[in-house]
Amino acid sequence: RAKENGRGQAIGYDPELDRERVRIGELEGELRSAIKSGAIEPVFQPLVSATTGAITGLEALARWQSAAGRISPEVFIPLAEKSGLIDALGVHMLRVSICHARAWPGLTLSVNVSPIQLCNPDFGAQVISVLKESDFDANRLTLEITEGVLMTNPDQARRSIDQLKRVGIKFALDDFGCGYASIGALRQFGFDRMKIDRSLVSGVEDAANGIEVLRATISLATALNIPVTAEGIENARQAAILRDTGCDQLQGYLVGKPMSAQEISETLRLEDPAA
Ligand code: C2E
Ligand code: MG
Ligand code: MG
Ligand code: MG
Repeated sequence: RAKENGRGQAIGYDPELDRERVRIGELEGELRSAIKSGAIEPVFQPLVSATTGAITGLEALARWQSAAGRISPEVFIPLAEKSGLIDALGVHMLRVSICHARAWPGLTLSVNVSPIQLCNPDFGAQVISVLKESDFDANRLTLEITEGVLMTNPDQARRSIDQLKRVGIKFALDDFGCGYASIGALRQFGFDRMKIDRSLVSGVEDAANGIEVLRATISLATALNIPVTAEGIENARQAAILRDTGCDQLQGYLVGKPMSAQEISETLRLEDPAA
């Protein structure tokens, strides 16, 4: 905000800042209509067995092709969170992802959920109603949550998680190892899976002590009986290291890039022509 001096004149007025504000305001409007019109769509990234290499599940990731070009979820998810659009976006992603996943029987579906959604008292009921309307088996659904959730409203988060675990939905703690340490959260919130953040995986094949950090992190999860997925696997050496340190599931550009629903269907046909 431009400061004013005693005579009401702006000091340090920055027209750039105004343009930025206008741009964010416009983007918010565009996001609102993009959610309604279906311009936000999921792509799906394979989750593969560390031992067999077979695809066992898919993670839905939101994509937005705006009129002005592609906008990253790193930009529009925080914007949706700030502008009250995240609940609508989240339900839309869940509905559309489930609709596609029905064509891929036997595979799990993982959907990312914002901490803000989880702290909405209606969240549990929303998810259950989407499952019912699409006749999708709750046991196939995993919701991925980042660590920040535990800071905002732990009591409501807990109620949502408990409610949804009772119907068979699973929860994965996403991006573990970047940001807040939430070792306690793994147990307190009853997470079914830990996903090790790409930042811990990246460069591990070169850094001498990187492996020790991974080993310690994975053995912690193992001690709690929680299986571990490694994110951001980009080369064969990383895959070998993460498999050997005890991850049962791998994800990353090496084993599968995010793909359209149609590309996933084709990939699955190639993997198992009988299916
Ligand atoms: P995430 O859930 O941790 O997803 C993994 C991100 O890493 C994705 O980025 C994916 O494309 C990228 N990735 C996967 N493998 C590799 C790899 O081998 N190397 C590299 N460099 N990157 C890899 P993306 O799609 O840009 O999504 C970023 C984040 O945005 C996600 O991180 C998630 O936190 C959030 N997000 C995406 N879709 C949704 C959504 O529908 N709802 C919510 N609440 N958040 C979402
Ligand atoms: Mg995720
Ligand atoms: Mg992640
Ligand atoms: Mg991430």
